[in-house]
Amino acid sequence: MSSHIAFIGLGHMGAPMAVNLIKAGHRVKAFDLVPAAVQAAAQAGAEATASAAQAVHGAELVITMLPASRHVEGLYLGEPGLLAEIAAGTLVLECSTIAPESARKVAAAAAAAGIRMLDAPVSGGTGGAAAGTLTFIVGGAAADLEAARPYLQAMGRNIFHAGEPGAGQVAKICNNMLLGILMAGTAEALALGVANGLDPKVLSDIIAKSSGRNWATELYNPWPGVMENVPSSKGYAGGFGVDLMLKDLGLAAEASMHSRSATPLGELARNLYAMLSARGHGGLDFSSVLKLYER
Ligand code: NAD
Repeated sequence: MSSHIAFIGLGHMGAPMAVNLIKAGHRVKAFDLVPAAVQAAAQAGAEATASAAQAVHGAELVITMLPASRHVEGLYLGEPGLLAEIAAGTLVLECSTIAPESARKVAAAAAAAGIRMLDAPVSGGTGGAAAGTLTFIVGGAAADLEAARPYLQAMGRNIFHAGEPGAGQVAKICNNMLLGILMAGTAEALALGVANGLDPKVLSDIIAKSSGRNWATELYNPWPGVMENVPSSKGYAGGFGVDLMLKDLGLAAEASMHSRSATPLGELARNLYAMLSARGHGGLDFSSVLKLYER
């Protein structure tokens, strides 16, 4: 099955995702505000377009992968809004990580125009986007998810239906809040052990087989040199940036205010990553939160 897909937003994540759709045999019409990003997609086999409206004309599926809520609302609901250019019945996958409220607002406007929109934020980073192993966390109608599934499978490995519109964003935000807390807690525990005479590798091995074990101690240790091929052993280069973590923790804070939920640990983690960013480390991997514990 080959479909005509409009792909809008060809950044770190969008570009490799579009390439995987091309590899799966689809016709991809690509657009980004940055002309060089469109040219790079064209070199990878996409059709370059001069506007988002041009990309969506005749498309059976529209995918957007944009930085934040304001870009998504601006694109779909702005003047002129892209929803007015998309034919009724078209499936739209909004894959950016944005506020659940924004996702619900755009999905409601889409539904009013007869457009089938899913929020489908991803987990797995740029490596997962390139390898086609992303996790998609989807909010919206189950029947629309089934229609989207073959396309999602061309870009990812795990596909979850979180619930109604916006639910994908809620689940993604909860996961990343926990990730931010776990990384800061792991850095704190390792720093405490080292300050009291332990070898960070020995302590990490002990925690990894004890009740404090978590994703960081198993796969992504924040202490330099404990694990090979993780950002901490490469000067905290690559990986998932402090500023991206800060963005997601900001979304968690917004969601907590919206629902009057207490998230004291999420707020504390948000402040830790904000301190790191303010010190000029916003571009480093988020495991560099360990720097705050250096003596
Ligand atoms: P990015 O900044 O690299 O790419 C976003 C692209 O969108 C840019 O090329 C920008 O020019 C384009 N854009 C912005 N507004 C546009 C518009 N109106 N029309 C067309 N193009 C427009 O960001 P990214 O790293 O690719 O992340 C995209 C989304 O995925 C974000 O919401 C991010 O939080 C989320 N995410 C990122 C990662 C990661 O590791 N980078 C992991 C998971 C989720």
